[in-house]
Amino acid sequence: MNIWVATKNAHKVEEISKILAPIKIKSFLDLNNVSDVEEDGVSYEENALIKAKALFEIVKEPVMADDSGLEVDALNGAPGIYSSRFGGIPVDHDKNINKLLAELKELPLEKRTARFRCVIVYLDSAGKPHEFSGTLEGIIANKRTGNAGFGYDPIFWLPERKCSVAELTDTEKNTISHRSRALQKFIKFIKG
Ligand code: IMP
Repeated sequence: MNIWVATKNAHKVEEISKILAPIKIKSFLDLNNVSDVEEDGVSYEENALIKAKALFEIVKEPVMADDSGLEVDALNGAPGIYSSRFGGIPVDHDKNINKLLAELKELPLEKRTARFRCVIVYLDSAGKPHEFSGTLEGIIANKRTGNAGFGYDPIFWLPERKCSVAELTDTEKNTISHRSRALQKFIKFIKG
């Protein structure tokens, strides 16, 4: 069985392939001349659906798309769907982190609660949408630690593990991440 993933991000394709193996994954990277999809939805669900529909129109096979972001309680859930461009465009993870650290400056640890959230939309062979979500709770640290992962990982602190997500191995991250939690629900659904 093939499942298409509506992304051009090779890191994401690799992460999803590992979690979904032995199911074979294809993505926008396997197609030529596909223009970028404008993610102008107002929620993770809408954005994932927009991406999934754009790919489904082309391949007419089952497609999944995910949309995720970081929600900081002290910022009323921001940056949320704007996580990747929080520090401006073009997307720059380092600028995103700097802006977030500046906005939370001097806020005590107990008020720095946050979560990563991931929503997956799966369009089955008939194009019918199904939704799955996952979260990972943590604290926004006041400095970076670790070099693994991407995005906000170096400042996303896991109190029980006493480390940041960027200090986890890929395998460790893949067992607890918001994306893997949403993917596990999705796997349960497609494998029955
Ligand atoms: P996407 O929808 O998965 O592309 O995620 C949007 C943005 O949310 C990313 O560009 C990151 O800023 C942030 N983000 C999502 N997932 C993660 C993660 O696992 N680690 C760190 N940042 C993430």
